[in-house]
Amino acid sequence: MSRLEIDADVLVLGGGPAGTWAALAAAREGARVVLADKGYCGTSGPTASGGNNLWNVPPGPARERSVQARFEDGGRLSEPAWMYRVLEETHQRVDELAGAGYRFPSGDDGREVRTSLQGPEYMRRMRRRVHRAGGTILDHSPALELLTTGDAIVSGAAGLQRQNGYAPWSVRAGAVVVATGGCAFLSGSFGTNVDTGDGLLMAAEVGASFSGMEFSTAYALAPAWSGHTKGLMMQFATYYDADGRTLGDGGFSARGAAMAHLAAGRPVFARLDRARPDIRAAMRTSQPNYFLPLDKAGIDPFTQKYPVRAVLEGTVRGTGGIRVAGTDCASDVPGLFVAGDAATRELVTGGRSGGGSHNGAWAISSGTWAGAGAARFARKRPVPDGVRGAGAAGLRGPSARRQASRSIVGLVQEHTLPLRRSYRRSATSLQDSVTALDEAWSGAADLLGGSERELLQARSAAAMLAVARWATHSALARTETRGMHVRTDLPDTDPAQTRRLLSGGLGEVWVRPERGTAEARTVAS
Ligand SMILES: Cc1cc2nc3c(=O)[nH]c(=O)nc-3n(C[C@H](O)[C@H](O)[C@H](O)COP(=O)(O)OP(=O)(O)OC[C@H]3O[C@@H](n4cnc5c(N)ncnc54)[C@H](O)[C@@H]3O)c2cc1C
Repeated sequence: MSRLEIDADVLVLGGGPAGTWAALAAAREGARVVLADKGYCGTSGPTASGGNNLWNVPPGPARERSVQARFEDGGRLSEPAWMYRVLEETHQRVDELAGAGYRFPSGDDGREVRTSLQGPEYMRRMRRRVHRAGGTILDHSPALELLTTGDAIVSGAAGLQRQNGYAPWSVRAGAVVVATGGCAFLSGSFGTNVDTGDGLLMAAEVGASFSGMEFSTAYALAPAWSGHTKGLMMQFATYYDADGRTLGDGGFSARGAAMAHLAAGRPVFARLDRARPDIRAAMRTSQPNYFLPLDKAGIDPFTQKYPVRAVLEGTVRGTGGIRVAGTDCASDVPGLFVAGDAATRELVTGGRSGGGSHNGAWAISSGTWAGAGAARFARKRPVPDGVRGAGAAGLRGPSARRQASRSIVGLVQEHTLPLRRSYRRSATSLQDSVTALDEAWSGAADLLGGSERELLQARSAAAMLAVARWATHSALARTETRGMHVRTDLPDTDPAQTRRLLSGGLGEVWVRPERGTAEARTVAS
């Protein structure tokens, strides 16, 4: 077991798509880059585990239409100027991937279809590209806390090496990119076991604020005994009730009827009977892991019905995250840059889930901008001296309270995962959650702590609790229904609330409308 201490220009936390694009961009700016991942960069996180549809629309009328449609769909909270930027950057970076040898499938007209990436292959290549660009990758090295200087500039991070006896690591750096993904509250959704909101907690501890946390309620449907929530297969599904009656209109929009049925506590069954026989083999090849649990249960999903459940994906397919304060994805805190699901995606998707393709595009573009921005920031300062850890929650408590993390996680899950908590919400249910979660936070400092593995669990539990608090406080403050935020007590959209909500704080959570955003928005390229 040996302690690891490294100096760098840019430290990237998280090695999913956002983190790897950030590392690549920083290296291209001439920065010495270190990337630390909780798992193994290239296989960790939801992108690495499946297919990744991309919002990649070429310039022209189709792009204009796509921006307009999403602007309206997202409750007019996004920024068209950002949407066009993301589309253009994504388009260029995807071209770059193709130029570097990534092979896209061809469509019926023989032309490459560049709107989807095969996750494992994509992330395998991204890891290799970071290496080739000179980046140092620390695998199985979760970050626990950010490091700051006396003048409160973010200047590195520290964590543990899981495969080296939990020995500490620390990296002093001129700037840090937080790309640790979102928070799915350990719901079991595909690939999100690493997404416990750690980066959001670290950012809050240095004073960062958040945006759009009320839009943290993305649910997806999975076979009842599986965590496979990929939506691709479900476009071929018809949903049925327990008596075999078709739910909704039987088409893609029937998902809403299926969700409503589940929310009412009634069982829902799916059958992929809208898939033409000639594409069924291709479906199996493209998403083999969807079929595995069904095959094991002896169910042919094309001809037989199987029960489905709704799985919360929190901010991973929601849109809330660390506030983006500049076009280089700087946060509110000097030295701290943000990318991917750790950052808010409201600028691009408003209050509507970005999971279907917008998040993937955002990961690419925000990663690229944050990495370059961090490198430029670091260029202006020498590797800082005299840094100290900024972390608190769950880090310094008494050791060996084995059950403490588990009970905090249980409480957080009770107030986030059920449909009655996050899919249908009212002032009463939200106030109940706010009270319970705030109370848990005030006791958490005395409960959470430990060393090695326990410390990692304590930190993740604290992060999940913090994220749940920003999310529920924000949901209580948005007194209307908009995007994925549905209030059963306030079912209408209130035009006066066409503005984003910022939030933050640890001891005391605050929420307030962002100033000036409504006036700034125009739909123009
Ligand atoms: C089932 C599913 C399907 C999806 N399909 C699509 C799709 O088709 N199209 C689309 O646009 N979006 C899709 N999404 C959303 C998409 O996966 C995410 O938006 C995308 O993965 C975000 O990339 P990221 O790099 O920000 O975060 P992630 O991919 O979540 O990566 C985060 C990385 O940070 C690491 N990490 C976490 N904590 C720490 C820590 N403390 N220290 C160091 N490292 C840490 C993790 O190990 C991980 O490698 C899907 C999501 C799910 C769950």
